[in-house]
Amino acid sequence: MTTATPAPTSAFPDLTGEPRIAYFSMEIALRSEIPTYSGGLGVLAGDTMRSSADLGLPLIGVTLVSRAGYFRQQIVDGRQVEQPQWWEPLQWAQQMPAKVAVQIGERPVWVAAWLYTVESGFGPCGRPVPVLLLDTDVPENHPDDRTITHQLYGGDQAYRLKQEMVLGIGGVRMLRALGVTVRKFHLNEGHAALLTLELLATQGRRGGPQVDTAAVRRRCVFTTHTPVEAGHDRFSHELAGPMLGGLFASPAVRQLGGEGELNMTLLALNLSEWVNGVARRHAEVSRRMFPGYDVQAITNGVHARTWTAESFARLFDTHVPGWGHEPETLVQVADRLSDAEVTAAHREAKAALLEHLRGLPGGAAFDPAWPILGYARRMTPYKRPELLFTDLQRLKDIATRLPFQIVVAGKAHPRDDGGRRAIEMLHGWASELQGAVPLVFVPDYNMDVARRLVSGADVWLNTPRRPLEASGTSGMKAALNGVPNLSVPDGWWLEGCIEGVTGWSIGGDTDADNDGDARALYDKLEQQVLPLFHRDPAGWCAVMKGAISRNGYHFNSHRMMRRYAVEAYLR
Ligand SMILES: *Cc1c(COP(=O)(O)O)cnc(C)c1O
Repeated sequence: MTTATPAPTSAFPDLTGEPRIAYFSMEIALRSEIPTYSGGLGVLAGDTMRSSADLGLPLIGVTLVSRAGYFRQQIVDGRQVEQPQWWEPLQWAQQMPAKVAVQIGERPVWVAAWLYTVESGFGPCGRPVPVLLLDTDVPENHPDDRTITHQLYGGDQAYRLKQEMVLGIGGVRMLRALGVTVRKFHLNEGHAALLTLELLATQGRRGGPQVDTAAVRRRCVFTTHTPVEAGHDRFSHELAGPMLGGLFASPAVRQLGGEGELNMTLLALNLSEWVNGVARRHAEVSRRMFPGYDVQAITNGVHARTWTAESFARLFDTHVPGWGHEPETLVQVADRLSDAEVTAAHREAKAALLEHLRGLPGGAAFDPAWPILGYARRMTPYKRPELLFTDLQRLKDIATRLPFQIVVAGKAHPRDDGGRRAIEMLHGWASELQGAVPLVFVPDYNMDVARRLVSGADVWLNTPRRPLEASGTSGMKAALNGVPNLSVPDGWWLEGCIEGVTGWSIGGDTDADNDGDARALYDKLEQQVLPLFHRDPAGWCAVMKGAISRNGYHFNSHRMMRRYAVEAYLR
């Protein structure tokens, strides 16, 4: 079934040789110009590649080319409008000399691959990490099949299953065709779980029809990101059976993915020897959700160099040289940087954000002297973007005594009605708050916008429903830039919050009602956060340094990848 045409030649980078960790992810955020990501999952995958390149870890990324991207967000009359975001792979990547076929239902679908190379920025042991972008838009394919790798998370259930077949099954075959030796397969979320079926079919069998799950389990590492059952990817057997054909025919294989339906998380759990959640609380929740499975915790991190503003990177270069390779050294920031230096670095980042906002509706009202509350992430109901606006009168009252301003950004999945409604509501609130609390919605949230927001804001806000924020990573980016978090204690913030030292928490540790959380948020803003900002610059600066030295030093992807290497990959 696998056909390679022709064998890799010397004109192409040689991916054979040293055994690699094959990291499979539906989305990988390689750079802002390449729209192959929708949010935190993809950015984490990108930071995984970047840290691996810096640390010299032998990874190879496997993802979809997503030629039409996720989507470009425009705001028309306060509503989200989606446009395809076509990009040209040839501009950034190199076409690899192999095509493999995956039988999807009635037809074989040909899969090609583009090679993007993540270069290490610096560091004593940096090595480039190759990333394969799988592409079905080739002349051999039926017109319908050419679109399979066009739109990230687009289409219906059938389209999604086809994408996951291309990623999981096509990805394994492509690695084989290119001569890559794989030491471990790392499944970043359940989307990649079908790779286990390909492994079972090709090497899990010793002669007879018996499936050798142990042989496959030994090679697979699975990171789960979803703390609710309903969020797990699943497909009916009626859909999956015919589409997967022989790979999914045997009762033993069906059992691994769930009796009633094909549950990708269950399939990955059953065929991975090492499983982890992305924060301690998330691992606990996952263990409760899947009794009998051993779920470890490796808390997420962000790539320090990528997410640190130039002004702070310069300061760190001077006072904690080597911080990019060993972000732990940022622990020294609290003692080595003066208040004046930290304040000046932040002022520069804030000026860059204000410059960006000036061109947007409402942006001219922003005052550099007032604090900016920043909130940006995928717009979806469980993240409760509306919580801050529960009581507009109270917000206005607080602002008359302690002025502040708000900047918001985020895309809603085209079929997420709750998320789309939130964007509409935010635009309504911006009008209602006019003259009292300046509010700007920055359209088309992406890596570039994120970089500006997490460094230019003064306080980074997060208000998810507990325990649904598996980890969250934008707050880690803010911390690296001396921007303290004000967040519900969930995900990483349960580990990162030292009250009044790295930032502040909102409400208690158990899930509260919206009104209770909103009151807690207003109280904290009114009694602690805003008074400190307006009346105690030295106290504020101490929290900024606390964010860098006690959050930034730990919640980075270098620490995260060293843990994956030692605990998961080298087993
Ligand atoms: C970091 C990042 C995210 C993740 O934000 P969370 O707060 O973890 O949800 C999403 N989108 C983009 C563009 C990012 O850079």
